Amino acid sequence: MSIADNIKSLKKETGPGVTLLAVSKTKPAADLQEAYDAGQRLFGENTVQEMVEKYEQLPKDIQWHLIGHLQTNKVKYIAPFVSMIQSVDSLKLLHEINKHAEKAGRVIDCLLQIYIADEETKYGLGFDEAIELLRSEEFATFNNVHIRGLMGIATNTDNEKQIRDEYYELKTFFDGIKQSYFRKIDTFDTLSMGMSSDYKLAIEQGSNMVRVGSTIFGNRVIKHWKNN
Ligand SMILES: *Cc1c(COP(=O)(O)O)cnc(C)c1O
Repeated sequence: MSIADNIKSLKKETGPGVTLLAVSKTKPAADLQEAYDAGQRLFGENTVQEMVEKYEQLPKDIQWHLIGHLQTNKVKYIAPFVSMIQSVDSLKLLHEINKHAEKAGRVIDCLLQIYIADEETKYGLGFDEAIELLRSEEFATFNNVHIRGLMGIATNTDNEKQIRDEYYELKTFFDGIKQSYFRKIDTFDTLSMGMSSDYKLAIEQGSNMVRVGSTIFGNRVIKHWKNN
């Protein structure tokens, strides 16, 4: 099946209530252009360098989402154009995003990345840390970031019950956070969970944004010298 066909069938399957983010990391610009020509506008990249390179090559109405760990010293390269940063995992990073968004005269949409997997890896805030961030005095001073919701990555396992449980926990946390901290703000509306292997389970548990790479673009060549 072509990239266009894959997108079409995914959209049909996930339905209108779920936003499809096409995760294009490691894929050449031509593949993204093919997806774009099929109507796809939201693309996810996990490194700043790749996102900047593709941003320069591709149509300017693409909405770029950063989904990988972001180092504070690289925020400046994407602040002028990034549509959403889904991988906010510290107050320090959010501070930096706010600073560069202000310089660029923008308000940048962000998701807090929440650590839900049962793995010794990765980034993300614990539930307590996320609450601490939202309650901090410093957070209240940020005028150029806009927290739109939460993102989570489930454990890489075949155990469907475990994946369901992790997504269920994140959905429950999302509802609680919305109720406690964003009650009057109807733009805290994005729960990004699910990738190629588990988006069905994620949607079943309440996801409204899935980040799908290999099901659209085919398998990635694994680069062992890189993190992803
Ligand atoms: C790579 C990646 C995805 C997409 O993975 P696929 O298995 O190719 O769908 C989703 N989310 C994050 C954070 C990723 O890094």
